[in-house]
Amino acid sequence: MNAITLGCPSSSLQMILKQASGTSSPPHVFTLYHCSHSLITASLVLLVLWMVARPLTIPALAWPLHIIMDSVSHGEGRWQTLMLYPVSDWHLHGVNWWQYPGLMMFYWGVLPVLWVGIYVWRRKCSVVRNKEVV
Ligand SMILES: [Zn+2]
Repeated sequence: MNAITLGCPSSSLQMILKQASGTSSPPHVFTLYHCSHSLITASLVLLVLWMVARPLTIPALAWPLHIIMDSVSHGEGRWQTLMLYPVSDWHLHGVNWWQYPGLMMFYWGVLPVLWVGIYVWRRKCSVVRNKEVV
Protein backbone atom coordinates (compact mmCIF):
# COMPACT_ATOMS: atom_id res chain seq x y z
CA MET A 1 0.00 0.00 0.00
CA ASN A 2 1.26 3.45 -0.70
CA ALA A 3 0.30 6.88 0.59
CA ILE A 4 -1.60 7.78 -2.57
CA THR A 5 -4.15 4.97 -2.21
CA LEU A 6 -4.64 5.29 1.56
CA GLY A 7 -7.91 6.95 2.43
CA CYS A 8 -8.92 7.49 -1.17
CA PRO A 9 -12.56 6.50 -1.74
CA SER A 10 -11.82 5.39 -5.29
CA SER A 11 -9.18 2.96 -4.02
CA SER A 12 -11.83 1.42 -1.76
CA LEU A 13 -14.14 1.10 -4.75
CA GLN A 14 -11.36 -0.44 -6.80
CA MET A 15 -10.68 -2.95 -4.00
CA ILE A 16 -14.39 -3.87 -3.81
CA LEU A 17 -14.56 -4.25 -7.59
CA LYS A 18 -11.41 -6.37 -7.58
CA GLN A 19 -12.88 -8.67 -4.92
CA ALA A 20 -16.17 -8.77 -6.78
CA SER A 21 -14.42 -9.72 -10.00
CA GLY A 22 -14.60 -13.27 -8.86
CA THR A 23 -11.09 -14.21 -7.91
CA SER A 24 -12.07 -14.60 -4.25
CA SER A 25 -15.84 -15.12 -4.46
CA PRO A 26 -17.28 -18.61 -3.96
CA PRO A 27 -19.24 -20.01 -6.96
CA HIS A 28 -22.63 -19.82 -5.19
CA VAL A 29 -22.32 -16.03 -5.19
CA PHE A 30 -22.54 -16.06 -8.99
CA THR A 31 -25.39 -18.59 -8.97
CA LEU A 32 -27.37 -16.29 -6.67
CA TYR A 33 -26.40 -13.29 -8.77
CA HIS A 34 -27.58 -14.94 -11.99
CA CYS A 35 -30.83 -16.13 -10.35
CA SER A 36 -31.56 -12.65 -9.07
CA HIS A 37 -30.81 -11.16 -12.51
CA SER A 38 -32.96 -13.61 -14.48
CA LEU A 39 -36.20 -12.53 -16.13
CA ILE A 40 -37.45 -16.07 -15.49
CA THR A 41 -36.98 -15.74 -11.72
CA ALA A 42 -38.45 -12.24 -11.73
CA SER A 43 -41.44 -13.40 -13.80
CA LEU A 44 -42.16 -16.28 -11.43
CA VAL A 45 -42.02 -14.00 -8.39
CA LEU A 46 -44.21 -11.41 -10.16
CA LEU A 47 -46.72 -14.13 -10.99
CA VAL A 48 -46.87 -15.21 -7.33
CA LEU A 49 -47.22 -11.57 -6.25
CA TRP A 50 -50.03 -11.04 -8.76
CA MET A 51 -51.86 -14.03 -7.28
CA VAL A 52 -51.34 -13.29 -3.57
CA ALA A 53 -50.60 -9.57 -3.26
CA ARG A 54 -51.78 -7.89 -6.46
CA PRO A 55 -51.14 -4.26 -5.37
CA LEU A 56 -47.43 -5.07 -5.03
CA THR A 57 -47.14 -6.27 -8.61
CA ILE A 58 -46.75 -2.85 -10.28
CA PRO A 59 -44.02 -1.62 -7.88
CA ALA A 60 -42.27 -4.99 -8.27
CA LEU A 61 -41.89 -4.32 -12.00
CA ALA A 62 -38.78 -2.40 -10.94
CA TRP A 63 -37.07 -5.78 -10.68
CA PRO A 64 -37.33 -6.78 -14.36
CA LEU A 65 -36.62 -3.14 -15.30
CA HIS A 66 -33.39 -3.40 -13.28
CA ILE A 67 -32.49 -6.62 -15.11
CA ILE A 68 -33.07 -5.00 -18.50
CA MET A 69 -31.00 -1.96 -17.54
CA ASP A 70 -28.23 -4.22 -16.17
CA SER A 71 -28.18 -6.16 -19.43
CA VAL A 72 -27.01 -3.05 -21.31
CA SER A 73 -24.70 -1.80 -18.55
CA HIS A 74 -22.78 -5.04 -17.89
CA GLY A 75 -20.42 -6.27 -20.61
CA GLU A 76 -18.65 -9.57 -21.11
CA GLY A 77 -17.42 -11.21 -17.94
CA ARG A 78 -18.66 -12.63 -14.67
CA TRP A 79 -21.23 -9.89 -14.07
CA GLN A 80 -22.82 -10.18 -17.47
CA THR A 81 -26.60 -10.39 -17.16
CA LEU A 82 -27.85 -13.79 -18.25
CA MET A 83 -31.48 -12.75 -18.60
CA LEU A 84 -32.88 -16.27 -19.14
CA TYR A 85 -30.79 -18.06 -16.49
CA PRO A 86 -30.92 -21.03 -15.74
CA VAL A 87 -32.65 -22.04 -18.98
CA SER A 88 -30.19 -20.26 -21.26
CA ASP A 89 -26.95 -18.29 -21.14
CA TRP A 90 -28.36 -15.83 -23.68
CA HIS A 91 -27.31 -12.23 -23.03
CA LEU A 92 -26.97 -8.86 -24.66
CA HIS A 93 -23.53 -7.49 -25.38
CA GLY A 94 -23.66 -4.51 -23.04
CA VAL A 95 -20.87 -2.21 -21.94
CA ASN A 96 -19.42 -2.15 -18.43
CA TRP A 97 -20.75 0.91 -16.62
CA TRP A 98 -17.58 1.20 -14.56
CA GLN A 99 -15.58 1.66 -17.76
CA TYR A 100 -18.01 4.21 -19.25
CA PRO A 101 -19.13 6.61 -16.47
CA GLY A 102 -21.13 8.61 -19.03
CA LEU A 103 -23.45 5.64 -19.36
CA MET A 104 -24.30 5.79 -15.66
CA MET A 105 -24.76 9.55 -15.78
CA PHE A 106 -27.23 9.06 -18.65
CA TYR A 107 -28.84 6.13 -16.80
CA TRP A 108 -29.40 8.20 -13.64
CA GLY A 109 -30.17 11.36 -15.58
CA VAL A 110 -33.10 9.71 -17.34
CA LEU A 111 -34.83 8.92 -14.04
CA PRO A 112 -35.62 12.52 -12.96
CA VAL A 113 -36.88 13.23 -16.49
CA LEU A 114 -39.19 10.21 -16.23
CA TRP A 115 -40.39 11.25 -12.76
CA VAL A 116 -41.20 14.78 -13.93
CA GLY A 117 -42.92 13.35 -17.01
CA ILE A 118 -45.06 11.02 -14.89
CA TYR A 119 -45.90 13.88 -12.50
CA VAL A 120 -46.99 16.17 -15.36
CA TRP A 121 -48.95 13.36 -17.03
CA ARG A 122 -50.78 12.55 -13.77
CA ARG A 123 -51.61 16.23 -13.20
CA LYS A 124 -53.03 16.52 -16.73
CA CYS A 125 -55.12 13.37 -16.18
CA SER A 126 -56.32 14.75 -12.85
CA VAL A 127 -57.34 18.11 -14.47
CA VAL A 128 -59.23 16.31 -17.27
CA ARG A 129 -61.05 14.11 -14.72
CA ASN A 130 -62.01 17.15 -12.62
CA LYS A 131 -63.39 18.97 -15.71
CA GLU A 132 -65.49 15.92 -16.59
CA VAL A 133 -67.00 15.87 -13.07
CA VAL A 134 -68.03 19.56 -13.13
ZN1 LIG B 1 -28.09 -5.68 -10.88
